[in-house]
Amino acid sequence: MNHLKPLLRVTILLILCTPFVSALGQDVRYDIRFPDLPGYKMYACDLHMHTVFSDGTVWPTVRVEEAWRQGLDVISITDHVEYHPHKDDLPINHGRPYDLAVGTAQAVDLLLIRGTEITRDTPPGHFNAIFLDDINKLDTPEFLDAIKAANAQGAFVWWNHQAWQGEDKGKWLDLYTTMYDNKLFQGMEVCNGSSYYPTAHKWCLEKNLTMLGNTDIHDPDLRKQSLPGDHRTMTLVFAKERTPAALKEALLAGRTAVWYKDQLIGRKEILEPLFDAALRIQAPIVRSGKNVYLRIANSCDTDIKLTRSGGNGPASIAIPAQATKVVEMTTAAADTPLDLQYTATNFLIAPDTGLPVVLKVPQE
Ligand SMILES: [Zn+2]
Ligand SMILES: [Zn+2]
Repeated sequence: MNHLKPLLRVTILLILCTPFVSALGQDVRYDIRFPDLPGYKMYACDLHMHTVFSDGTVWPTVRVEEAWRQGLDVISITDHVEYHPHKDDLPINHGRPYDLAVGTAQAVDLLLIRGTEITRDTPPGHFNAIFLDDINKLDTPEFLDAIKAANAQGAFVWWNHQAWQGEDKGKWLDLYTTMYDNKLFQGMEVCNGSSYYPTAHKWCLEKNLTMLGNTDIHDPDLRKQSLPGDHRTMTLVFAKERTPAALKEALLAGRTAVWYKDQLIGRKEILEPLFDAALRIQAPIVRSGKNVYLRIANSCDTDIKLTRSGGNGPASIAIPAQATKVVEMTTAAADTPLDLQYTATNFLIAPDTGLPVVLKVPQE
């Protein structure tokens, strides 16, 4: 190998010495782009997924490779504690998926969080717990004992896909009140895969639970990139830094938004500054008589869809992801500042409720 140039030699040595990242050699990563919020950075997270160690069909390292390629920052592999259809082929070992995947995660600088899914018939249904030290302690006969064991380890716990199945789907039962009153879960999946649960969305707002969106993927995810029209359901978490402690603090504080299809779903306190950071009216503003030409830029990875709620401006404006749109409008007095009142219909602050926004057009 001595005749090779030094840089090439180092590259070959790295490849030879790190077989666990070799599958990534053909891949490139495309970042997911949403703005940071004042004081907090945006981290794209998928905190619910499965591997062959429960009922999934991929090896744990593949979950890391997919997520890295698609621009995610943080994932948790959450195989079922109780459901093991591959147990004749693989021994049950609750800690094994994390242990197998963490080396690949470290090699590509993706944060992998140890987690699991506590899986019971509905009710109570399925709950995820992350930031665990020892998943084995959650393997208990009684459901509430498993939930308590997760909380005893300082886990963040949430109710998955609450309207999924069972006669009591969509109902808030006494059991959930007991769990809620004892702070045994702190969030809910508002979205899971291709499903949106308006009831969960409503409950998160009423009960101050954190909103999450995850894939719950079982099969390989073959997407090369997260695109506005084709991306995994995920949670944008706004945290001080990308560490387990900072992410847990952000999740407990409810600083999340769910990116689901062409929508962002979250609290008004989160979506409002996110919108303000994503949308820019660019200078200079061109005026010609009573005509005003606005160039509106969208710096986030989802389209922004606006419907007029006030008296000025076009009836609707759509600004594609990562693009700039020219909007022409006529005004009564061309040289005065304008407040254009709209609703961002795909920024959901409650079921069927878009975010009210004001586009401020300064006088020039
Ligand atoms: Zn589940
Ligand atoms: Zn699941």
